[in-house]
Amino acid sequence: MKETTAPAEPLIPGARRLDICRILGESYDPARWNDWHWQMRHRLSRPEQLEQLLQLIPGERRGLALCQGKLAVAVTPYLAELLDPLDSSCPLRMQVVPREEEALVAATDMVDPCGEEHDSVVPGLVHRYPDRVLLLAIDTCAAYCRYCTRSRLVAHGRLGGLGQRIDAIIAYLEAHTEVRDVLISGGDPLLFSDEKLDELLGRIRAVPHVEMVRLGSRVVSFLPQRITPSLVTVLRQHRVWLSLHFSHAAELTPEVAQACDLLADGGIPLGSQTVLLRGINDSVTELRALFHGLLKLRVRPYYLYQCDPVVGTSHLRTTVAKGLELVAGLRGHTSGYAVPAYVIDAPGGGGKVPIHPETVVGYENGTLLLRNWEGGVYTYRDPVNV
Ligand SMILES: *Cc1c(COP(=O)(O)O)cnc(C)c1O
Repeated sequence: MKETTAPAEPLIPGARRLDICRILGESYDPARWNDWHWQMRHRLSRPEQLEQLLQLIPGERRGLALCQGKLAVAVTPYLAELLDPLDSSCPLRMQVVPREEEALVAATDMVDPCGEEHDSVVPGLVHRYPDRVLLLAIDTCAAYCRYCTRSRLVAHGRLGGLGQRIDAIIAYLEAHTEVRDVLISGGDPLLFSDEKLDELLGRIRAVPHVEMVRLGSRVVSFLPQRITPSLVTVLRQHRVWLSLHFSHAAELTPEVAQACDLLADGGIPLGSQTVLLRGINDSVTELRALFHGLLKLRVRPYYLYQCDPVVGTSHLRTTVAKGLELVAGLRGHTSGYAVPAYVIDAPGGGGKVPIHPETVVGYENGTLLLRNWEGGVYTYRDPVNV
């Protein structure tokens, strides 16, 4: 077995990294570059900084001007290094640099497409399904995806600090003995310090009927420096599952591989969630590369989401017909582990609804006609003695 080793830091950093430090007015220091606090403090967010970082196209320049006060822009220096400065269709750049189309509000767009406010039982706690809840712990992310389903909340300071909300949340969990699964999301809960996370997880774990705790996080792809041995110790102690958000194989860098190795070697079960995005990952080739890449890192693709109809995201959404075609191009053609469930989070609070390419093509008198991945039709007969 190969041991986990840190990616070798180049003695002479790439020109790009030096450029980024110059834009930040910082001298390059590998120790600081690898420190997640430094990365968070030096995120690029101002239009002038992005203007220096990238050869912006007019649509991006207008997008940066228009998004002020709407969805924040922030790019960690680590992520900045991965953005193609010359190609505006770079899949990472399209996810974090706004376009002027963000100002378009399509007739079907919604501020809160998944209806989370409606199912909110105490501030920042959504209880929709019978046995599990979603806890919105923090409203900050390392970088802001332009298609964020919680653009109404993130980076707006509207959620309120967890300190003021936690007692009510814990009281709700204690009173609701049917809740056995707590999903902590945000924002990005891995942006809490190790100590704060330990305290939060400890309080949730102290609720006797909570059997499972999971965290949804984007830091592994946007800020892999956050995954430190001491964080892994905290996550392991509380027996946490992680759902990591990835959109494109270009996100699977040596730093990300190292972070996933630390987590997997630390015994943390890893799943991933991917949003289907037009022009970013809407082809079998791109999705397969991503899902195969994740499996190599011991991350099991869990959900592929149809992009929620959030205000200002119609330029990034594709059709469900396209999504079904992509899933059909994966299922059976590659490892079942590489095929996540394709779901639509039903607008209006219906929750996640799985959608599948048609496989049951006939069902009469106990005889089922099944279409397989190659298009062949097979028969299955129900038992007769039921
Ligand atoms: C996604 C989600 C969950 C978890 O759903 P699973 O299908 O169990 O992963 C729970 N609550 C809410 C409100 C959600 O959106």
